[in-house]
Amino acid sequence: MNPRREFLKCFGLVAGGTCVSFDYSSLHAVNYRQQSRGKKGGMVLRFEPYDLQLRHVFTIASGSRTITPVMLTSITWEDEVGYGEASMPPYLGESHTTAHDFLSKVDLSQFSSPFLVEDILHYIEGIAPGNYAAKASVDIALHDLAGKLMQQPWHRIWGLNPEHAPESSYTIGLDIPEVVRKKTEEASSFKILKVKLGGGNDREMIEAVRSVTRVPLGVDVNQGWKDRIQALEMIHWLHEQGVVYIEQPMPRTAVDDIARITVDSPIPVIADEAVQVPSDVNKVQGVYSGINIKLMKCGGLRAAYIMAGMARALGMKVMIGCMTETSCAVTAAAQLSPLADWADLDGNLLISNDVFEGVKISDGKVIIPDLPGIGVRKIRS
Ligand code: MG
Repeated sequence: MNPRREFLKCFGLVAGGTCVSFDYSSLHAVNYRQQSRGKKGGMVLRFEPYDLQLRHVFTIASGSRTITPVMLTSITWEDEVGYGEASMPPYLGESHTTAHDFLSKVDLSQFSSPFLVEDILHYIEGIAPGNYAAKASVDIALHDLAGKLMQQPWHRIWGLNPEHAPESSYTIGLDIPEVVRKKTEEASSFKILKVKLGGGNDREMIEAVRSVTRVPLGVDVNQGWKDRIQALEMIHWLHEQGVVYIEQPMPRTAVDDIARITVDSPIPVIADEAVQVPSDVNKVQGVYSGINIKLMKCGGLRAAYIMAGMARALGMKVMIGCMTETSCAVTAAAQLSPLADWADLDGNLLISNDVFEGVKISDGKVIIPDLPGIGVRKIRS
């Protein structure tokens, strides 16, 4: 093999001082495909509505539900297909109807190659404001397609070490103590749990969990507390109960109160509802200790990757979260998880009719599949 080819073979793919095996012919295949699609057209976006059945009635401070509407998407180019998904819990304002309307406007035939990710997502962003879940469904499918054509998973394309993926939490929703204890017992393989609070029975919720397990807890109040002094008292009590972070303790509009809480809190205070897209990150610096990034909030992997980098640069903590989603969107988010302090990637475990197979949780830890693209296989059509 000539030196130049040997260099290309090793470039960017050196692990632990060893040049790992890389199929050089795949670069050739990619180049060929780019050339063969040099003319207009080729990419086809498809989408279909689907309802996720939740294993348990899911209750947070803003309400209860038993299904989550999603839109399953795919982008086909030549003989390769990338998969995506929009998950649309009702409180975020998107629906099958809005996603259908948005995705019907998308015309990818104007782009000569799926590798023009920046151009394509700039076009998607400009179609209409909002619609972040619908936008994420295109972004995820495009990343899946491009990664498959490069024959690499995205964590490797980004240079992230999958062994640095954190442990994932499992979410315990608001409920009566008996149900909370049962759910906690079911989650015994997890090394950290995320407990929803803000429903008026906070101590009861924590005591029910603590009657079953001593694992570290995160708590998510979903903006449910209204008083700063009471919030701080509760946070100190939670800290004594082994809670390691608190998410969105008060409404996102209560900026001054939350900033005071963050200064006085013994545990990190994480923004969720208060931060959506990259331009929000510097606004919450100094108010919160960290941010919860979700693909459905920010519009997909590209924005999520940017947000993680911004938060890191600003010295903030990073959490990668999700909605109730199939393994498609959850596995896509898992590709970013080595950048996170905490992962909350249990959305696929909360449903009974998954369409994909991908990320696994083993002994509590996120296991990112070593498959190209976002790392999923479709298991149900
Ligand atoms: Mg949250």
